[in-house]
Amino acid sequence: MSDFPTSARVVIIGGGAVGASALYHLCKAGWTDCVLLEKNELTAGSTWHAAGNVPTFSSSWSIMNMQRYSAELYRRLGDEVDYPMNYNVTGSVRLGHTKERLQEFQKVVGMGRYQGMDLKILSPEDIKKVYPFVETHDLTGALHDPYDGDIDPAQLTQALAKGARQMGARIERFCPATGARREGDEWVISTPKGEIRCEIVVNAAGYYAREVGKWFGRDLPMMVMSHQYMLFDTVPELEAWTKEVGHKLPLLRDVDSSYYLRQEKNGFNLGPYEGNCKAHWVTKDDPFPEDFSFQLFPDDLERLEWHINDAMERVPLLGKVGLSKVINGPIPYTPDGNPLIGPMPGVPNAFEACVFTFGICQAGGAGKVLAEWVTEGATEWDMWSCDPRRFTGFEDQEYCVKKGMEVYGHEYAIHFPHHAWPEGRDKKLSAVHAHTKALGAVFAPYNGWERPVWYARPGDDVSEDAQRTWDREGPWFAAVREEAQAVRDAAGILDLPGFSRFVLKGAGASAWLAQQITGKVPNVGRLGLAYFADDKGRIVTEMSVARIAEDEMVLITAATAQSHDGEWLRRHLAPGLSLTDHTTEWSTQILTGPKSRAILAEVSDADLAKGWLTHQTARIAGAEVWLCRVSFAGELGWEIHSKVADTEAVWNAVMRAGKGHGLRPFGMFALNSLRVEKGYRAWKGDLSTDYTILQGGLERFVDWAKPEFRGKAALEAEKQRGVAKRFATLVIEAGEQDPPYMATIWHEGKIVGELTSGYYGHRVGACIGLGMLKTDVNVPGTKVQVEIFGSLYPAVVQEDAPLWDAKNERIRA
Ligand SMILES: Cc1cc2nc3c(=O)[nH]c(=O)nc-3n(C[C@H](O)[C@H](O)[C@H](O)COP(=O)(O)OP(=O)(O)OC[C@H]3O[C@@H](n4cnc5c(N)ncnc54)[C@H](O)[C@@H]3O)c2cc1C
Repeated sequence: MSDFPTSARVVIIGGGAVGASALYHLCKAGWTDCVLLEKNELTAGSTWHAAGNVPTFSSSWSIMNMQRYSAELYRRLGDEVDYPMNYNVTGSVRLGHTKERLQEFQKVVGMGRYQGMDLKILSPEDIKKVYPFVETHDLTGALHDPYDGDIDPAQLTQALAKGARQMGARIERFCPATGARREGDEWVISTPKGEIRCEIVVNAAGYYAREVGKWFGRDLPMMVMSHQYMLFDTVPELEAWTKEVGHKLPLLRDVDSSYYLRQEKNGFNLGPYEGNCKAHWVTKDDPFPEDFSFQLFPDDLERLEWHINDAMERVPLLGKVGLSKVINGPIPYTPDGNPLIGPMPGVPNAFEACVFTFGICQAGGAGKVLAEWVTEGATEWDMWSCDPRRFTGFEDQEYCVKKGMEVYGHEYAIHFPHHAWPEGRDKKLSAVHAHTKALGAVFAPYNGWERPVWYARPGDDVSEDAQRTWDREGPWFAAVREEAQAVRDAAGILDLPGFSRFVLKGAGASAWLAQQITGKVPNVGRLGLAYFADDKGRIVTEMSVARIAEDEMVLITAATAQSHDGEWLRRHLAPGLSLTDHTTEWSTQILTGPKSRAILAEVSDADLAKGWLTHQTARIAGAEVWLCRVSFAGELGWEIHSKVADTEAVWNAVMRAGKGHGLRPFGMFALNSLRVEKGYRAWKGDLSTDYTILQGGLERFVDWAKPEFRGKAALEAEKQRGVAKRFATLVIEAGEQDPPYMATIWHEGKIVGELTSGYYGHRVGACIGLGMLKTDVNVPGTKVQVEIFGSLYPAVVQEDAPLWDAKNERIRA
């Protein structure tokens, strides 16, 4: 009788490093009734030929967390499962050619320190001490990462598989999944060896993930790049040096020239990320193959010529030997280069752990994250950077290919806070895009929607290069100040297409919503901010809730939250209630500033005496609009919501009326400045599952009197224990840069917190930080320091009130 498993709690499709790690971590969590299906031998996809570099470096906090965890796991895994592995922890040096690059390194050193890692900046002279064979004359410095190294990817996968088997999981090799169907509460996965019924399924199919996703109705946002590395012959000098010092060279990354160079035995391994890169399987004459197991693409060295020459100049030893082998294999890319890890949007009991660009160094952490999603429905660290719901369905193949190639060609590029990447743009345009553009708008995409970020004045430098700076005072700065001042002194209008918008209706809708949010559902005719907590009391999301009728609400949320929030609401929705997405039917402008009432009075029949946090329908330019008396900018103001077909007429009318009142269009940069002055939190910056509602300083949005709401028990327990760290506002005497995300806060020589927002407030004329501070230090007036790109700057903890208009008198005017 066949012993093929016919049922399992979890089936994982794909046996690369990531699938094996997911299996291992599920077992570690006690979920051992799991089966992994691999169509060929384990590692047959991208894993077998990967170079196996295991960096911890990332400029993203969550990705760094994942990679740090991987490196820690790999150091002990061999012993733990009794499977010796070639894992060389050589450390690495990441070379910097510019001041901006060193600033990036400083930022990462700060994040690393906060994660318990001792990364260091090296001067050009110091570089020679750890890497004697490198030319340093044109360098500004380097980052030394002592935890970096390389691992044999096949051994890693086998070790994870062995560990999982030891704990009771099963691995079926040469057993492709060929389809999936839903029967009742189960998934039925078909294979040539028979069907397996399971509660939960995980797509870990690497570059085949889109094919597997189709069975679940998914069109995965991904494409496939070809990536090459080259192995060089033994270098006698290197061999002698290695023998003498007793260890290998650290891995060298010349990030400004876009390649890594690693010692491989006593030769080199050179791996470029070239700008003139190649996508595969994206055209009709290059169709996606049914099976590519253990296969490679033909060598294509021509496109790497520049990098080879550059590397030979950088490390002249490389030029002394011949090339012995080229590996050219497929790597999948999402449009932002991060993998998909988490619940499959819109599909019950199905998860994704696929489309990994750096799946060897991330496999360990990814397995942990995936296992948490499956077994607990939530992750320890906020993992929005990898959440499949960050894509919302507009990402067609052309977009995926363009973005994938852009990310690949800039794999090591610096991501500056005011720079927007140029590919895949203009996917979704506001009805008044042409108008804002004509007024000088510089745009950036938000969930594909092009929104003005600032309005360039004649002579302002809008070139892409000019935006590539960490400095506060880039080309936008003076214009943004004028925009913020117009909002303060007269009025500003911000075009905000793509606000995510849901309508919730049905008998009991209000009672249901009351159980989902921590606070009160607003009364009919009013609106308010609502916070959604998870069972641990952590911040899942924030929405504006406008109560239209007893059991009818409009929920408005960030553009980027469309899929995330829609999914969260639908997942918990009570039977009989209806939830519909109206995002694309409406558009929004924020009209705000002391003159906004006078402007609206000229063009609308609205009752403008209605107070703050009310809403009403009214007419502008003959069209029905919905006016909400709120302002994220913290001034008197209204959101004007209009049907897309009417938006242009409404805009024109408001702009005409605004002429006599000093109305000026403003962008997202000014809005950021204005909202930090008010202490308004931004989703997935200040508001994330890394923090609880109480830590977030949101207790005024908690209605403890409610018998029940999600997260209540956890929050009550936390309140009783005392909150260990809490939201704080700092005024910082910063230098030329504002603090980046996760800049650390210091007090008496110790780290006492971190910033989740840092920006210059033009109304208060100071650099403002919003973040989390240990409760004992979180006392107004306390002097602390903030680390910004490696230097400490004095800062003062503020009262728990907005820095601008603390009593909200201007908003209520
Ligand atoms: C040349 C090169 C060098 C690289 N170097 C590095 C590096 O140094 N460091 C790093 O971190 N990353 C590196 N990468 C990337 C890395 O290889 C991948 O990110 C990683 O291997 C992805 O692992 P995975 O488990 O997600 O996917 P894969 O390894 O592709 O595994 C997916 C598995 O799913 C199986 N499968 C697919 N469909 C089915 C089905 N229907 N049923 C059953 N099984 C199925 C496939 O056979 C495959 O084994 C490199 C990639 C290339 C091409």
